[in-house]
Amino acid sequence: MPKPRVAVIGGTGVGEKLASATRGSTLPVETPYGHTSAPLVQANWDGLDIVFLERHGEGHLLPPAAVPYRANIWALKSLGVTHILATGATGSLREEIHPRDLVVPDQVIDRTCRRASTFFDEPGVTAHVEFAEPFCPVLRRRLLAASDAVQATVHDGGTYVCMEGPAFSTVAESRMHRAWGGDLIGMTCMPEAKLAREAEICYALLALPTDYDCWRPHDPTKDKRALLKEIISHAQAATELSILLLRGALRSMAANPPDACHCQTALELAIWSDRTRIPSATFERLRPILARHVKG
Ligand SMILES: [Zn+2]
Repeated sequence: MPKPRVAVIGGTGVGEKLASATRGSTLPVETPYGHTSAPLVQANWDGLDIVFLERHGEGHLLPPAAVPYRANIWALKSLGVTHILATGATGSLREEIHPRDLVVPDQVIDRTCRRASTFFDEPGVTAHVEFAEPFCPVLRRRLLAASDAVQATVHDGGTYVCMEGPAFSTVAESRMHRAWGGDLIGMTCMPEAKLAREAEICYALLALPTDYDCWRPHDPTKDKRALLKEIISHAQAATELSILLLRGALRSMAANPPDACHCQTALELAIWSDRTRIPSATFERLRPILARHVKG
């Protein structure tokens, strides 16, 4: 298999930690969707060239709904990125998913409602990608294979409920998310995962549960300050563990490139428009995404 071009999108905790630890050159990219969350950094980790992006921007100034998801994925695609490993802090909706565990989710329920969630929402081209399996199975296996070297429980699978936020759930909502089959609650993996699929980039997520969501009553002996301290301590521990796991997965990808998979041909049967009639302005806007399928 050809060598993968891998990007790491660092979420809350991991993003800040890696941004301060990652040295490399910045890659200037202009996109039709504005600026990326932060400058894209070209770095070398353990012999593998990667592109690093801090999802919430420098100083964590971008709340989940303000992350420029389309600019981020467009920019990564234009740089030839083939695989994205992303991280995200979450709350746990299950007793057995403890804070400090790690989860490699396999399903999503999208509850976001105020975000541009597709590259194909304007006249000019119609495309419907398959999204039954929202995370790349090949990349998920790489993350899980690297978990042996990490002193943490790593859960294989789970349903990530992506809420709009920024406020957290009510107790009734939290119970509803559990009743729906949700295992984790977070605010960022959508539309990121869907846009990656539309751009034919393999995408997998490493989720860091930092606390139980509000369906589970807090320990009444602890005040709010003590609880917050506990959450921060869980987040820091999970951050260290997830960076170790990511590095292990990246090393394995450098030594043994991942197999081809369906994410990388997601648009082949998805474009319903007459390809000869796609306007040049549409083609130019989506050039990195459409170039393999449509003649400009
Ligand atoms: Zn894939």
